[in-house]
Amino acid sequence: MPSKPSSIELADTAAELMQGIAGWLLIGLGLGALLTGTGGAVQQAGTTDVIAPLVVVVFGLLFIVSGVVVNPRFRRRLDRRHGLSQFGRIRTVENRTHSTTEEQPEPCVVCNCRSTEGLVRRYRQEYVIAGIPLWTASENHNFYCPDCARGELSIDASTEESTTATQTVTEPE
Ligand SMILES: [Zn+2]
Repeated sequence: MPSKPSSIELADTAAELMQGIAGWLLIGLGLGALLTGTGGAVQQAGTTDVIAPLVVVVFGLLFIVSGVVVNPRFRRRLDRRHGLSQFGRIRTVENRTHSTTEEQPEPCVVCNCRSTEGLVRRYRQEYVIAGIPLWTASENHNFYCPDCARGELSIDASTEESTTATQTVTEPE
């Protein structure tokens, strides 16, 4: 697997950082507008002048929403979201095929043989509100060599818990 030239990687990181900063700025602006607008609306309540601060409140909300969408960290969380009805602590299992040339071979958790290829199963305990992960309580991963991975995946299919969200991710070559 050819790795990306470092200049492109650097540009990606810089772009992500800029998007993150832009996101936080938008959220900050939005919160400022929201507070100012709400204060104004309370003062002008009952008069026709209440329209202007309410418009400011709406713009504040729009800023906050676009700030969240533009921020790569929030976007990744949104990508990992679960069903809208999911609240509280949930356990997720993510399967990822592992094929590396640069990393050290990892020992398989079943047969203990070392391999650079196989399956990485990532376990997460996270707290979600309306399906959006807010906080990851714990995260760990198990590595399976290709032989044991096949066995694991077939066991998995038959004893799937309904509370466990399983996501199979294949890394792009
Ligand atoms: Zn194994």
